[in-house]
Amino acid sequence: MAILVAGGAGYIGSHMVKRLVEKGEDVVVADNLATGHRKAVAKEAKFYYGDIRDRQFLDRIFTNEDITAVVHFAAFSIVPESMAKPLKYFDNNTGGMITLLEAMHDFGVKYIVFSSTAATYGIPEHMPIKETDPQKPINPYGLSKLMMEEMMAWADKAYGIKFVALRYFNVAGAAPDGTIGEDHGPETHLVPIIMQVAEGKRKELSIFGDDYDTPDGTNVRDYVHVMDLADAHILAIKYLEAGNESNAFNLGSSTGFSNKQMLEAAREVTGKEIPAKMAPRRPGDPDSLVAASDKAREVLGWQPQYDDVHDIIATAWKWHETHPAGYDDRGEATLY
Ligand code: UDP
Repeated sequence: MAILVAGGAGYIGSHMVKRLVEKGEDVVVADNLATGHRKAVAKEAKFYYGDIRDRQFLDRIFTNEDITAVVHFAAFSIVPESMAKPLKYFDNNTGGMITLLEAMHDFGVKYIVFSSTAATYGIPEHMPIKETDPQKPINPYGLSKLMMEEMMAWADKAYGIKFVALRYFNVAGAAPDGTIGEDHGPETHLVPIIMQVAEGKRKELSIFGDDYDTPDGTNVRDYVHVMDLADAHILAIKYLEAGNESNAFNLGSSTGFSNKQMLEAAREVTGKEIPAKMAPRRPGDPDSLVAASDKAREVLGWQPQYDDVHDIIATAWKWHETHPAGYDDRGEATLY
């Protein structure tokens, strides 16, 4: 019996694989290395190089391996890119889910845990955001993920495939042992960009907008540690295996930090100056995004270990300091 982690070479997927392996689970990874890294995948996991839109590729995995549950991270996730290239997102994200669910149905795999996003809520009407709040995405990325949630709901009704959709807020940090971390090319997220400035690889941080309706004028976001996120996925698998109904949960800390506060925290953690300047707003950024995450705590029994952004940043810093070139594997995808 094994768990299939689709997208297990990516930032969040690789931390999930590490956690599953630590817990003694058999893990199979499927990844096309479009944005992931082969070196990020724990050596105990079995690796299949390929694309989940490729039905023959999925058939090979489901035929060779005794898969009982799928955890699905194989998707693109950059909001500004999705605005410029919407069809890329509907093809890979939404299209990939069609093939995956069809294969799961044909092979009798009944459980899927899915990485959804706060971006499915769009501009929230109130804060913190609850799972029952309206989902009205304002960008193709958020819509591609909402469509995937809805496809799973219909696949549940028709085929009895049970799902848990985990709606992430802002994920950051790295494995505390410093072995794996975040390495995107190009990097767009706040915490790794701040780390790059601290390392001296980038001249300064541009803070996108200081005239938002927030206490210090900069956007407020809810940061959750990547290992806490991985634990929530493991609890979600257990929740489904226990025979529970399909469900959706927010994963956040319920506490918001502004971009300026994140910068200050990073200066304290790293002891570096981290030069920063104000820059124009980035299109599509809501003022604040903070999760109500009591449902995951109550129903799944989720107990995040990192409730201080300083600790989250400290793990990110450990990875960046010890891996200045990230995984140092640009162009190696074709080797697999
Ligand atoms: N941000 C910023 N400068 C950067 C990158 C991000 O000011 O170089 C801001 C961004 O506008 C947002 C917050 O940091 O307010 C978090 O952005 P990120 O892209 O990390 O995550 P998102 O909230 O888009 O999922």
